[in-house]
Amino acid sequence: MDRDADCVFCRIVGGEAPATIVHQDEVTVSFMDINPVTPGHLLVVPREHHSSITTIPGSVLSHMTLIAQWLAAALRASPVRADGVNLFLADGAAAGQEVLHSHLHVIPRWVGDGFRVQRGSRPRPSLEDLEEVAASIRA
Ligand code: 5GP
Ligand code: ZN
Repeated sequence: MDRDADCVFCRIVGGEAPATIVHQDEVTVSFMDINPVTPGHLLVVPREHHSSITTIPGSVLSHMTLIAQWLAAALRASPVRADGVNLFLADGAAAGQEVLHSHLHVIPRWVGDGFRVQRGSRPRPSLEDLEEVAASIRA
């Protein structure tokens, strides 16, 4: 299985670094974020080391998503405040990725919790503009 000796999440997955684990199975380990956005903030981490979502095998990524769904339901059913939940994945430093072992955040949310995902304001593109970008992605 892929592993990076310098990776903190590989060390947690391997049991060599401490973590507050909520769930684990053959494919993933899910634990409390050490610096939570809100109380109950969880990370779903594949056992395999992949720095980017683009190299995670589909079956592993599907499993991560199912576990995130299950954890979102568990949070909502628990005493942890979770009027809503965000799933978040940062792929690449430009997207805010700090730990280069791809992982999915499961973040409990409520109105007024202080967490913001801010969009810059830019002019709304025309349908032709959207089609041009879509065509370049399709290609
Ligand atoms: P990223 O910005 O890469 O999507 O998020 C990395 C997350 O991992 C951050 O929310 C950070 O608080 C968390 N984190 C970083 N190092 C550790 C660690 O050693 N243990 C745990 N439990 N979380 C960590
Ligand atoms: Zn790793």
